[in-house]
Amino acid sequence: MNVRLDDLPLRDDLRGQTPYGAPQAPLPVALNVNENTHPVPADVADDIVDAIAHALRDVNRYPDREFAELRAGFADYLGQGLTADQIWAGNGSNEVLQHVLQAFAGPGRVGFGFAPTYSMYPLLTRGTGAEWVAGSRGSRFTLDPREAAEQVREVAPDVAFLCAPNNPTGTPLDLEVIEAVYDATDGIVIVDEAYHEFSPHGTPSAVTLLPGRERLAVSRTMSKAFAFAGARVGYLAADPAFIDALRLVRLPYHLSALTQAAASAALRHSAEMLRMVDEIVVQRDRISATLEALGYEPYESGSNFVLFGGVEDPAAVWRALYDRGVLIRDVGIPGHLRVTAGTEDETTAFLDALASLGSRA
Ligand code: PMP
Repeated sequence: MNVRLDDLPLRDDLRGQTPYGAPQAPLPVALNVNENTHPVPADVADDIVDAIAHALRDVNRYPDREFAELRAGFADYLGQGLTADQIWAGNGSNEVLQHVLQAFAGPGRVGFGFAPTYSMYPLLTRGTGAEWVAGSRGSRFTLDPREAAEQVREVAPDVAFLCAPNNPTGTPLDLEVIEAVYDATDGIVIVDEAYHEFSPHGTPSAVTLLPGRERLAVSRTMSKAFAFAGARVGYLAADPAFIDALRLVRLPYHLSALTQAAASAALRHSAEMLRMVDEIVVQRDRISATLEALGYEPYESGSNFVLFGGVEDPAAVWRALYDRGVLIRDVGIPGHLRVTAGTEDETTAFLDALASLGSRA
């Protein structure tokens, strides 16, 4: 007889939970997990391969546990006078968020975010034995500083998540909301800027709010703008004492020598890596304009994806696109679907496939 999950002595608080499960189907046009669909430029890839080859010669030894070169690289990239002792990194920003929760959440504590938001926040929070409480958003998924602070004051979370811009809605977040939420709690406030590079040029980062706010952390990832999702590199900026807290929960040598070498090499080419961002933003805006012309209701997006409403039967539209070789995301918001901005060709394939289902206008 097959053993079922229920037959195992699983933690009670994990029973009945569902793992993260975005479909990984081998379709020609995959626009479902907000990756950067442009490959790493060939000359940059060559340099990364050289760096990995070099690191491989010492791979019999454990890597630099403090990943000093990489932290200096991230401090430099983020600017704002940040120093390496204010930087942390992990295998994807998911791991960085998990470190934050392991240090500051855990049994008897509470994690909080404004739903709908990134689906991993509750999973990661509960994974540490903490409780997840979901707050709510205003019209068109926006957050108002006063109302957001009120909700946070009421819940008094140990860790509050602010996703800027928000996944899955794309909604930009004003710094005033972050300031208000920070002032409304004694807990940790983590601003997830996974998609920051796709926001309009000059959009201020929450990194500018770090001085004097030792409970604030700002996380980023190389998975999106840097086209590095497969390498698994995310990072965070916070007070050096905050970084010390994360050292208590990380596994020794959690960032492999190969990951460190690859990420440092990619960072040295950040200008070239980020050149793709402008093109993706053009495709994102084209998606929004075309969706509107087709009679759908796209939301403002500061990210590399667009959430759109006005979808009568999201499951049916998702399936019809799937059958046409285009994979997008049903994020579980009734009447809505989400699509990642791809290359010009991929974006055209999506828009043509959607249009072929008939205009809603
Ligand atoms: N934060 C947000 C808002 C995301 O959308 C994602 C990926 N979808 C992540 C964090 C995690 O990305 P990664 O672990 O690849 O850095």
